[in-house]
Amino acid sequence: MENSNHYDVIILGGGPAGLTAAIYLSRARLKTLLLTDGTPGGQMTLTHEIANYPGIEKINGYMLGSVMKKQATSFGAVVKGNTEIISFAFEGATKSVATGDGQTYTSDAVILAPGGRSRTLGVPGEDTFKGRGISYCATCDGDFFTGKEIVVVGGGNSALEEAVSLTKYATKVTVVHQFDHFQAFQYAVDEAKANPKISFVMSSTIASFYGDEKLEGVTIKNLDTGEETDFSTDGVFIFIGYVPNTEWLKGVVNINERGEIIAGADMSTNLAGVYAAGDANAKRYRQVTTAVGDGTIAAMAAADYLHSLKRK
Ligand SMILES: Cc1cc2nc3c(=O)[nH]c(=O)nc-3n(C[C@H](O)[C@H](O)[C@H](O)COP(=O)(O)OP(=O)(O)OC[C@H]3O[C@@H](n4cnc5c(N)ncnc54)[C@H](O)[C@@H]3O)c2cc1C
Repeated sequence: MENSNHYDVIILGGGPAGLTAAIYLSRARLKTLLLTDGTPGGQMTLTHEIANYPGIEKINGYMLGSVMKKQATSFGAVVKGNTEIISFAFEGATKSVATGDGQTYTSDAVILAPGGRSRTLGVPGEDTFKGRGISYCATCDGDFFTGKEIVVVGGGNSALEEAVSLTKYATKVTVVHQFDHFQAFQYAVDEAKANPKISFVMSSTIASFYGDEKLEGVTIKNLDTGEETDFSTDGVFIFIGYVPNTEWLKGVVNINERGEIIAGADMSTNLAGVYAAGDANAKRYRQVTTAVGDGTIAAMAAADYLHSLKRK
């Protein structure tokens, strides 16, 4: 009797990378299970508008995630949200995954697509105003701040490069950085300093965010004197690093010093039959389109791997 909990491929992570892989695999008539710990859609669900996904002029991020999920399930993929992975074994020919609801699933191949998250400040008000004045993505949200005054937090390359790019939209950009010097390359520092729309508040951090319905300002704390000052602003962009959701994969697949999964051009990892796609992979650019591209490649490579198993 066929084991109903056995799949051709199990995908772990339900952002655009995982959902795209589910669309391709199920459309290729492969028995596909996608497990994700939150709402299908991943980080896309955190943004109210995606305006750079080709073919769709503007769409709510949650909606794009639910359309991708619908597309995958319409081809037969099983998509389970809010599912916690409690244990797994990926090394042998048959992979297995146990979930918090007491189920154990097995498969011949696995695609890891756990994505990542922006590093947060972790100060009062940050959760409240996320997506309502606080953003972690200039490419995604810069346009919403056209003609407005904004704050950028951070002093590395991303912070300074994004501060410069945000001057296309904002009338004034105030960079708040915790040290008295920047970590960015000199060219990025020079470019930011030469921009008349950018000013700097050094040796300082954001102590809290305030506002009513939406963000109205930040309390800036001077780290040398301890003095706190309220500063009105329309928006805050935080660029203090990125954290891949790969803590659970350490020692399982090859991961670099930044916690990113090392995958080949075909998204293969060091384990046979285990592929990785999306923002969790070691790469420079992280967007919906790049995640979708990775998911496509991982699905096609996994399908080839399954065919090669049958030929043996
Ligand atoms: C606020 C915001 C706005 C953005 N706006 C845009 C935009 O306008 N345009 C654009 O192109 N990009 C945008 N991005 C970036 C884009 O959302 C990401 O690049 C993309 O979602 C990455 O896709 P992914 O599938 O690799 O991972 P994710 O979207 O991160 O999805 C991974 C999913 O896997 C889940 N997961 C993690 N670990 C496990 C585990 N152990 N078991 C099961 N599930 C797990 C996560 O909870 C998550 O739901 C934005 C990002 C943010 C944060």
